[in-house]
Amino acid sequence: MTHVAVVGGGAVGATAAYDLAERGADVTLFERGEIASGSTGRAAGIVYDAFAEDVDARVADRAVERFREFSGEGDFAFRETPYVWLAREGDEKRASAIREQVPRMRDHGRDVSLLDADELAAEWSALRTDDVAVAAVARDAGRVYPETYPPLLASKAEAAGASVEPNAVASVTTDPVGVAVDGEDRAFDAVLVAAGAHTKRLLAEAGVSVALKPYRVQALTTADGPDVPLTYDATGGFYLRPYGDGLLAGDGTEEFESDPDDWARDADDAFVEATREGIAARTGDDVDVTEAWAGLCCATPDRDPLLGEVRDGLFVACGFQGHGFMRAPALAEAVAEQVLGGEGVPAFDPTRFTGDEEFEIVEGMTVEE
Ligand SMILES: Cc1cc2nc3c(=O)[nH]c(=O)nc-3n(C[C@H](O)[C@H](O)[C@H](O)COP(=O)(O)OP(=O)(O)OC[C@H]3O[C@@H](n4cnc5c(N)ncnc54)[C@H](O)[C@@H]3O)c2cc1C
Repeated sequence: MTHVAVVGGGAVGATAAYDLAERGADVTLFERGEIASGSTGRAAGIVYDAFAEDVDARVADRAVERFREFSGEGDFAFRETPYVWLAREGDEKRASAIREQVPRMRDHGRDVSLLDADELAAEWSALRTDDVAVAAVARDAGRVYPETYPPLLASKAEAAGASVEPNAVASVTTDPVGVAVDGEDRAFDAVLVAAGAHTKRLLAEAGVSVALKPYRVQALTTADGPDVPLTYDATGGFYLRPYGDGLLAGDGTEEFESDPDDWARDADDAFVEATREGIAARTGDDVDVTEAWAGLCCATPDRDPLLGEVRDGLFVACGFQGHGFMRAPALAEAVAEQVLGGEGVPAFDPTRFTGDEEFEIVEGMTVEE
């Protein structure tokens, strides 16, 4: 039996632990705090399959399929909700990017279509559309409360035979590969580091350099709000989703590297003000903000994940550029299979970088390709 350590109890690590245990591995999942206490617990829970590249479309399709399968188990629910993204009049660059993306997404079997302002208004009367140049809608999309997902997958992993150790700060060892927890070395046949913003530091301590940069993004919730689809206003640079009786809105990306142990957990006043104005412009509603917070995402030089083996027996799953939750069920499944001898996702092979590349952080949700 293969003994595997998974470091990180977020969406990716919890799913990988489940998939490994399901496939017969002897798995231990280490989480430094409580399950879902990292970025997953701070995420917006927007899920869609609207990707234009073949590999991304396949990954997202599988992820949505699995979210639907898991829905209804434990506290986790996937609520079908279309995803709309739009560019405003005068923003020709993003408008033409949307017009160009949609046929490519359709070529990969995605259920997406272009909408003009009138068609958008006819379907969602709560959205103001008078300034919209072009919009697109993806029908295979939905919203979840992301903090409910890792506990479900961790409990499914336990039911499949895995051990789950919360409040266990793991460090990674090489030669032989393993982890150290509370000063005790524990040997494993393979270690998967899915430690979110801490991944780069953990691997660096083990002498492995990876091309990752944690960066801060922000979100807020409102007391009330109209019934909107999942909406990304590409020109305004923010997204919206229904959340409880109100809305959740976000982005507020900081395009510089954050220290994973020392960053501002609260949202900036400027982000809150700009986002309130954005909501008012898009819905006509003047909303009351109930909570505003920040969290960390991880960037890579080409904005694609680092998923796979970095050294014999040492695997990484990180670098999701703000799309890590929605792809977690599929990416974690692929890397779990790779740990057990499968091919993983070759396009996301982490060794395509040496780890010492210079690169800029580019926010994840963007249509400027
Ligand atoms: C405000 C915000 C909104 C977002 N919205 C979305 C969205 O709508 N859709 C989407 O797809 N993505 C979204 N994201 C991105 C998403 O949150 C991440 O991509 C995803 O949660 C990454 O999951 P993960 O399991 O890799 O990381 P994490 O959830 O961060 O899990 C890593 C875990 O590793 C643990 N850990 C770290 N070091 C150690 C150690 N030494 N030992 C043991 N455990 C350790 C951490 O405590 C953490 O729980 C958003 C992010 C933020 C911040």
